[in-house]
Amino acid sequence: MSSKISNYPGVEITPEDVRGQKYLLTRYETDLRYAFSSGVATSRFLRGLRRKELWGRECDGCGRVLVPPRMYCEACYRPTDRWVRLMDKGKVVTFSIAHVNSDASRRKEPILVSVIEIAGASPLMGILHLLGEVRPEKVRIGMAVEAVWRSDDERTGAITDIRYFRPIARRS
Ligand SMILES: [Zn+2]
Repeated sequence: MSSKISNYPGVEITPEDVRGQKYLLTRYETDLRYAFSSGVATSRFLRGLRRKELWGRECDGCGRVLVPPRMYCEACYRPTDRWVRLMDKGKVVTFSIAHVNSDASRRKEPILVSVIEIAGASPLMGILHLLGEVRPEKVRIGMAVEAVWRSDDERTGAITDIRYFRPIARRS
């Protein structure tokens, strides 16, 4: 490491150097725009969401059904084999009761963030999403939940096409 640095000698600029105007300083606002490809697996997954469908990829090497879907199995080091339609329900694997927003400001009502194991996929295969229509103190690990979808004209092919997951009402 140090030998590399000695090959490229330079002078470190410290914050004090900048504040002391030792160097020319130009301020400007950046206007960054970007686009990226979602890839084969995620693109199909997102298109499925627009149709209220959840899709995973099955691997014949390990027999797992992966969701979110991947074209390559990281356990077997081989391509996955086929698409599998999943159910739009599952169970709570883990959850968190969040009382602060991402900017650390306090929330009036907590949000419930959960990893949902999706029915039809392998154990512990699931997606991170919100829980709704349930009080925080009523949430349990293993709780059966179902997706609450946005309306046809609201869905855009995004994970937010599912508004949240709610507990499946028990019928007796
Ligand atoms: Zn595999």
